[in-house]
Amino acid sequence: MIHTCDVIVIGCGIVGSACALECARAGMKVTVLEQDTPGSGATAAGMGHIVVMDDSPAQFALTSYSQSLWKRLIPELPINVEYHSCGTIWVAADDEEMAEARRKQAYYAAEGLPVEMLDSAQLHEAEPNLDPSLAGGLRVFSDAVLYPPSAAAYLIQQAQQHGVSLVYGRCVQASRGEVRLANGTRLQSRIIVNATGAVSPELTPGILVKKRKGHLIITDRYPGFLNHQLVELGYLKSAHSTLGDSVAFNVQPRKTGQLLIGSSRQYDAEDGGVDHTIVASMIERAALYMPKLPSLSALRIWSGFRAATPDKLPLIGPTEDPTLFLATGHEGLGITTSLATARLLLDHLLNRPSEIPLTPYLPSRVAATVRDSAADSVAHA
Ligand SMILES: Cc1cc2nc3c(=O)[nH]c(=O)nc-3n(C[C@H](O)[C@H](O)[C@H](O)COP(=O)(O)OP(=O)(O)OC[C@H]3O[C@@H](n4cnc5c(N)ncnc54)[C@H](O)[C@@H]3O)c2cc1C
Repeated sequence: MIHTCDVIVIGCGIVGSACALECARAGMKVTVLEQDTPGSGATAAGMGHIVVMDDSPAQFALTSYSQSLWKRLIPELPINVEYHSCGTIWVAADDEEMAEARRKQAYYAAEGLPVEMLDSAQLHEAEPNLDPSLAGGLRVFSDAVLYPPSAAAYLIQQAQQHGVSLVYGRCVQASRGEVRLANGTRLQSRIIVNATGAVSPELTPGILVKKRKGHLIITDRYPGFLNHQLVELGYLKSAHSTLGDSVAFNVQPRKTGQLLIGSSRQYDAEDGGVDHTIVASMIERAALYMPKLPSLSALRIWSGFRAATPDKLPLIGPTEDPTLFLATGHEGLGITTSLATARLLLDHLLNRPSEIPLTPYLPSRVAATVRDSAADSVAHA
């Protein structure tokens, strides 16, 4: 059977759902392919912060643009999306981290984001369950949290209301305007979008996306225990490290009163099972910041795979195959940046001006970086 449409999006996680909706709103005929339950990949495993990050100017541009798109969507989000404008506090353990908090404050303030430095006493007042010996922190008011599976479900339902077809099946090949499913079905389309997250290289070999495993713990309901998303400033070291396993203190309140406790990062961990050694390190780390956390009751522990790229930016845009586009490689920021990804993808497809520069996210930049570093190593050999 051969279908024809304008766009086939492979993968119905939050990124694929957002892309399908954006394309359908622009009047395109869209089909989404999903091998499992929609939203059951990294989207179901994710924590759900809608956070602005400043590891690079491009990361700041993408996260703040996407956060503004989420804010515009708030009035229409169903209650089960649990959008909660709780803000983030970047927690500084010592004077060195306070210096980093001040640097961040200056950057965010210069970019127009409402932020506030907290000394040790103010930090304790804002979050009484934090250890009182911590040095202070930076409060970022615009950050929020939501419940990713419901957010993704909302986006794909909206997309379906705009005429998007959701087809179940495992895609085994996607190139030159044709997609083949494991059952032999072939579909044709002017544009194909690979939005399969951590497994995207299986369909587009050669793209530099690696699986990066992460664990999360969810507790029973403790209303009032936590008011903000809390992230240790050392989280940046963990997120930046490109080798080895790392853990960092990151807790998020859910509207239900539950706490999500993260986070861990592991390369080369193919097994999706829970690694109890890593979970124990996460709890130990969290206890350094919130001594009462280990006494709370945990309901569930799980893991998922982030889609990591070498420069911590996603791959959004065209490939050498003129029919094939990528929307993948979002690492720990795919919930936050899904809406901006969809806008940028559509900007490419319509060849129209974008609200932020497209270049930093082009898939070709990663191939170029790898070529350059290979040439460098040959030159230095
Ligand atoms: C522990 C953890 C915590 C996180 N916390 C946050 C956070 O707080 N904030 C944030 O912004 N991000 C967070 N993230 C990252 C975020 O969850 C991901 O970046 C995001 O969910 C990626 O969405 P996606 O749609 O690209 O991928 P996925 O959700 O993985 O969706 C890909 C879909 O493609 C389907 N698929 C794959 N292969 C095929 C195929 N061959 N044929 C058909 N279908 C296929 C899969 O079944 C899946 O449904 C976290 C991730 C983890 C693991």
